[in-house]
Amino acid sequence: MKRIKILLVFLLAFLAITPVASAASADTLAGLRKELNALKAKKSDADRKTAQTRTEINNAKAGVFNSQEEIKKNQNLIDEAKIEIEALNIEIAKTEENIKKLMSAEQLISGDNIYLDYVFNAESYADLVYRYAIIEQVATHNKEQIESFEEKIDYNKKLQTELAEKEIELNKKILELEKNIASLGSKYSEITEITMDIKDEISSTQELINYLVKIGCKENENITSCMTVHGDIGFSRPLISGRITSRFGYRTHPVTGARQSWHGAVDIGGNPEGTNVYSSANGTVGKIVTKSKCGGNQVYVHHNIAGVLYTTAYFHLLDIKVTIGQSVTRNTVVGTIGGGRRTPWDGCSTGPHLHFVIAKGWYGTSCSGDCYSSYTTFDRVKAIDPVKVLNLPNSWTRR
Ligand SMILES: [Zn+2]
Repeated sequence: MKRIKILLVFLLAFLAITPVASAASADTLAGLRKELNALKAKKSDADRKTAQTRTEINNAKAGVFNSQEEIKKNQNLIDEAKIEIEALNIEIAKTEENIKKLMSAEQLISGDNIYLDYVFNAESYADLVYRYAIIEQVATHNKEQIESFEEKIDYNKKLQTELAEKEIELNKKILELEKNIASLGSKYSEITEITMDIKDEISSTQELINYLVKIGCKENENITSCMTVHGDIGFSRPLISGRITSRFGYRTHPVTGARQSWHGAVDIGGNPEGTNVYSSANGTVGKIVTKSKCGGNQVYVHHNIAGVLYTTAYFHLLDIKVTIGQSVTRNTVVGTIGGGRRTPWDGCSTGPHLHFVIAKGWYGTSCSGDCYSSYTTFDRVKAIDPVKVLNLPNSWTRR
């Protein structure tokens, strides 16, 4: 389970490198940082655009609202004009009726009518003429009034037409604004999507940077080589299956029978000679010992686990499958199980098994940090319990 977790994290880190690796600058940690800054700038730009589009949408919506309000006002004005026209028409009708009455009176006057006196009740001809003049004046006044009513009607009709035209214009404006809102809306969601993508890219780039820093990559070191050669985030089991036959610490020596004998490793049995032994983490082969009388063929691998240096060692090997300085991953076979009949040169093994060491620092090499060349230091001081580090059960059948 732990190994799956570790592998997942490693895979995620590797996946995260993919979109970034396409950029030319991002093959170093320094390049990645530049990339991250560029992404952050891109994101604040996108954020600005989002806010701007949001404002544009709001403005367009306000524009639609205002136009709708204006249409409402317009419609009221149109209604008012209609009402006024109706009122004026009534006035005109009334006035026309008056004129008609007066005209019929005038006709009576202009003809030889014996009922003139009766009709007009004039006391004399002069009076009649006087009355006639008055009637004429009234008729003229009425005509003028009708003309002014008609003028008003014309004005109102014109107003009505103008308002109707204005309404058409406003509706057009609303249509345009709505179109604008729709396109702004799609622009907005587009920008939002881009922003989300950038956000993802930022967090994955940041994660990768954190990981690379953790495994101890230098600013200008090639990321890929740093990850495969130096960097890892933990150890995995060196064997697909196995069984603990001797633990880390003091024990009775299986060969010499000495009590309180130091064992700076874990012995893993349960595999026949020739079984593949894997590097426990990514690293570089730092030391190889061949056919030692006690320990047989030995491979030492240097690791950088989250910025801390370690050495793992694989003893009693039948074959050695790597060379000094070789970059290895946790899937590299460093050698095969020995310690049995097929490794007669090795006097410190009673049967096929792997003597597996995890020690702090880099043994057998020189470096500016935690490096040393004393085997005693490696075995007695720097070695740590692999069972604890790997959380090894008594036996297992999966790596
Ligand atoms: Zn051992």
